[in-house]
Amino acid sequence: MGKNGMGRYTVGLDIGGTKILGALLDPEGEVVATVRRSTVHGAEGLVSGAAEAVRDVAASGGVEVTALAGVGLGIPGIVDHRSGTVKHAVNLGVHDDELPLAELLSARVGGVPVVVENDLNVAAVGAAHVLERAADRAGRAERADRAGGGAADGAADGAADGSREHEDLAFLALGTGLASGLVLDGELRRGASGAAGEIGHIPVDPLGPECPCGQRGCLERFASGKALEAAWPARHGKPSPVELFEAARAGDQEAVVVRDRFADAVASAVRLLVLTTDVRHVVLGGGVAQLGTELLDVVQDALREQAKVSAFLGSLRLAERVRLAPTHVPVAAVGAAVLGRRG
Ligand SMILES: [Zn+2]
Repeated sequence: MGKNGMGRYTVGLDIGGTKILGALLDPEGEVVATVRRSTVHGAEGLVSGAAEAVRDVAASGGVEVTALAGVGLGIPGIVDHRSGTVKHAVNLGVHDDELPLAELLSARVGGVPVVVENDLNVAAVGAAHVLERAADRAGRAERADRAGGGAADGAADGAADGSREHEDLAFLALGTGLASGLVLDGELRRGASGAAGEIGHIPVDPLGPECPCGQRGCLERFASGKALEAAWPARHGKPSPVELFEAARAGDQEAVVVRDRFADAVASAVRLLVLTTDVRHVVLGGGVAQLGTELLDVVQDALREQAKVSAFLGSLRLAERVRLAPTHVPVAAVGAAVLGRRG
């Protein structure tokens, strides 16, 4: 197979505090190679590590770096996507007032355009891309079935009714903190000051605990990895969410209470996102979501319970909108690669 169309291949990197995940997307938007390496802290380590990750993943897919159409980066920290600069990415050891990351990385990868975006936004774009493609495939298979196993009307795939319905979602990151990325009607919503989706700091309990942000009773104090750790400190060397859910499953009543309270808080976050944006899907991601279906089940139960008192809430079918982030591909790196196409 020729790679003549490789001008439309892009690479995306999801740069975290401990690791860099990379993905190479082909012109059809399919993931053709992935890479994982350790993060080197500090500005120089960050740029050279990112450049090596781009080279590695392109090489695994048999594509020349200089033939890439673009590179996208997702990074925790304050990102200016217009200038490609990053400020205070403290857990990457970047304390510069302003690091021109896009420009520095582009110079190391043969002048390929680089775009930089915050980590939640790339995760939301990646989840939308992966779900949309899965739905396209399912739709194609269904149409092929209806056509009696004959050739499906390929040209009309997905676009037949003009809908890209899966590109309307909130990616709810249950990490150390709580925040979301929003893709609304296919467009990334950053907000006037880049704060769209920062729902972790919506106060939900005026008498609740103080939050480092200065307010009191923020949702993050109830629905985040940190909140879980405080409520159920790990005692057996496993992550606190894992120990909590194990104990609850084993019938520990105290654990059941803590787990259900947590599920209720996450359900409140889902309800909040749907009531403000009416997104079609809310995708649960972040470290706590590694619990998988066990987490999804309790959150959906909590949503159904909350809806019992309100026909209005019930009509919104909140439980059916929630799903887990895909785990077969690095979604944030995929999202970065999708944004790299637009660079
Ligand atoms: Zn707060």
